[in-house]
Amino acid sequence: MSTRSLNIKSILLAAIMVVIFFSFTQVAQAKIKTLTSEIIDLEFTSASYLKDPTLITANGQHITIRRITNSKKPTQKILIQSGLHGNEKGAIAFNQWLLPHFKNLMISSSEWKNTQIDFILVANPDGYLTNNRYNSNAVNLNRNFSVLFGQTREYPGKMSFSETETKAVRALALKEKYNVAIDVHGYINWVVLPTSPSIIAQKRKISKPEIAKYKKLYKTIAKNIPQLKNYKQLTAGFLQDGGSFEDWMFWEGGAQSFCLEIKKNHMKEDEKTRLKSYQAYANFLESTIKDLLNKSSHSLTAH
Ligand SMILES: [Zn+2]
Repeated sequence: MSTRSLNIKSILLAAIMVVIFFSFTQVAQAKIKTLTSEIIDLEFTSASYLKDPTLITANGQHITIRRITNSKKPTQKILIQSGLHGNEKGAIAFNQWLLPHFKNLMISSSEWKNTQIDFILVANPDGYLTNNRYNSNAVNLNRNFSVLFGQTREYPGKMSFSETETKAVRALALKEKYNVAIDVHGYINWVVLPTSPSIIAQKRKISKPEIAKYKKLYKTIAKNIPQLKNYKQLTAGFLQDGGSFEDWMFWEGGAQSFCLEIKKNHMKEDEKTRLKSYQAYANFLESTIKDLLNKSSHSLTAH
């Protein structure tokens, strides 16, 4: 074999390697491009989306929904809400951080295929503007839902769903049929579950599938809560918080639902400490949601 033919062979081999390398890079790039372009990021008001012009707060404000989805026909739908208490700015800030976090997950991980996540960052826009726990009618919106309505020390409103804000959340939930619905608050180191079946059973008949669904939720939270340091697992009924979001979402709205209380206002911490806390909450939410979505389907009750 001459030196000349060896050189030609080397050049040919190198050329082939270059072609293979570039075609691989292009395939990889095309894949990323496809995944990225599949993400749809929408923003709309509840009044326009639900075609109900009355869904405007007493102070004339809209409730905004941000929707992140990677499918036109999502098989798993999640709602993550914050700001039902307008003064809980730490919870709102965390949820705002969570939105792009989940968006990235939906782009990069096949576990989040066919997913729609709706974010309501500020469910009580009037209270948010005035730094108030309550809405413009002095109602605690997290006591204005219908399950165990009135069993509370705070003003829950004239009747269940008397308020625009809770009407909007209910209409959205009935339209979307969420599999999982989470309400983020900023008060104490608790995860609050819906009221236990034994207490609900004093008001109405409970079905076997409902009990199974509750057991699944209870076990899932118990399994994942150790990810959060010094956290307690409680129920709305135990806390005498009748009319809560998680109770209605679970017992009437067909979703697996709970409330995540953020331990404190992490906005006061330095960025590194804050992000460490945010990541822990995000990890807890990711694994909990994945466990709850596993073999679970929407089951709207007949009540
Ligand atoms: Zn709260």
